Amino acid sequence: MAMTGLELARIWSEAPALLPHSAGCACAGHVGLHLDPAAVEADVLDYLSERYSSGVHPELVALLQARRDERGITFASWLTSLDAVRLPEAARGILLADLGVTIASLASKGSR
Ligand SMILES: [Zn+2]
Repeated sequence: MAMTGLELARIWSEAPALLPHSAGCACAGHVGLHLDPAAVEADVLDYLSERYSSGVHPELVALLQARRDERGITFASWLTSLDAVRLPEAARGILLADLGVTIASLASKGSR
């Protein structure tokens, strides 16, 4: 089931494991449950770049590389922008579905 970029951005932004530690945090002091969002984003981009590197979706490899080279917009903003970025609809669907699976599995961590 493919989600929109906007939905992915919301899941990413609200994932307990990606929020900074705070008083009353659900981790109950187990700060090791927190993940570094920048490191997680890099892992996600690496994983998907590898997945698309067979050459079937060069436009997705290029899009992920452009995100790597980009500074100044958050990953959540980038995810939101995927709804409007110029891509063949089939490629957009694949990217959003893969990001959805990856981000949903992240979001489920930390709610343990
Ligand atoms: Zn915490």
